[in-house]
Amino acid sequence: MVEITAESSLEKIRTKAKIDGFNPIFCDLFLKKDPSLSCYLENGGYESLKKALQMKPEEVVEEVKKSGIRGRGGAGFPTGVKWSFMPKEGRKFLVCNADEGEPGTFKDRYIISLTPHLLLEGMMIGGYAIGTKELIIYIRGEYFEEAKILRKAADEAKKYVKEKFGIDYRIEIMEGAGAYIVGEETGLLNSLEGKRGHPRPRPPYPAQKGYLGYPTCVNNVETLAAVPFIVKNGGDWFKSIGKEKSTGTKLFCVSGDVKYPGIYELPMGFPLKKLLEIAGANGKIKMVVPGGTSAPPLTPEEIEKATLDFESIASFGSFLGTAAVVVISEKHSAAEVGMNMAKFYAEESCGQCTTCREGTKFIEYLFEKFAHGKAEKKDIDILEDISSSIPGSAICAHVDAGALPAKKIVKSFRKELLESVENGNTKQN
Ligand code: SF4
Repeated sequence: MVEITAESSLEKIRTKAKIDGFNPIFCDLFLKKDPSLSCYLENGGYESLKKALQMKPEEVVEEVKKSGIRGRGGAGFPTGVKWSFMPKEGRKFLVCNADEGEPGTFKDRYIISLTPHLLLEGMMIGGYAIGTKELIIYIRGEYFEEAKILRKAADEAKKYVKEKFGIDYRIEIMEGAGAYIVGEETGLLNSLEGKRGHPRPRPPYPAQKGYLGYPTCVNNVETLAAVPFIVKNGGDWFKSIGKEKSTGTKLFCVSGDVKYPGIYELPMGFPLKKLLEIAGANGKIKMVVPGGTSAPPLTPEEIEKATLDFESIASFGSFLGTAAVVVISEKHSAAEVGMNMAKFYAEESCGQCTTCREGTKFIEYLFEKFAHGKAEKKDIDILEDISSSIPGSAICAHVDAGALPAKKIVKSFRKELLESVENGNTKQN
């Protein structure tokens, strides 16, 4: 049985999905709607930091490893393993990637605005574990209200932790200027250094040479915000939720053709179809993007079988990404969907790599032809060819984000695209 509750001031946000045997961790704090330090302390705030400080740094890393948590920003790399890559000695940085730009994604925004101290406590624990007091949050420029909340909370947190535990953390909050590509960690580091936010070729990886040339660990907001819970309850507890290789609870952002868009906290492995029922998916579903629009969309047949975890979504040729679930009903044509997605990635390409700069634009151009009834039959093969050949050909994964959803749309909706050529217009049911 599933019970949904929504608070009136969070009208459009379904923050709490109570499922038998599952206790949400983020939602209880969200629903307090109070980002103050006093509210956080009343609810056990900074107790996990206290516990972590009584452990050795390597024990904290081990606990996070044991939890099996994988990065919540898109790539899904195991967080504890990432922390263990950091050198033991020398100056280093922990950077929180709060440049939440993937279309359909808005979970980090709610963590920052509703419970900023959870993120700050997670960062302080992370800093202790990897051996740095230098913490930086890079927040997207459009989140100016959230940046204000975060600045106030950071000032309170620094003061509180210094008085209580005698640790003097340095916390910097830097605002971006609105480019999607600085969500890529090396682009973010360049931007932090005051350069153009262009991704860097890897190696060297940030853990070897990051911010200002020093080893840097970059983690997503939700990942860091889960750390206080992991330290408090233990890695085994977190691992007991979800599935073997996709552990813990997860914030899913649901948008598109649904009655109740918003954030749903669910255990990893939750059936996608059930989430769509809870969110009130409207009309006949044509496709669902499972992890932000860079993730290839799933067809109705795949939706029936998919569960919301890294492995299941990957088995359908897509990825969980940022866990932004965008529901697209039959009222939209495949060509329009493809065109809108392609337009975004073409516009946001930083332009360094030819295949990305030109390839994403060409994909947009071809989808536009289909959407406006101007495509020829051969265009479908050209679209398939280009979207299959450019992934993996550039400095960063942006080129994949522009091409892989297009490839999947051609594969899944070839018949509809061909019909649009024959009819001279796009199909809309
Ligand atoms: Fe820039 Fe695209 Fe190359 Fe990434 S793949 S570095 S976004 S041109």
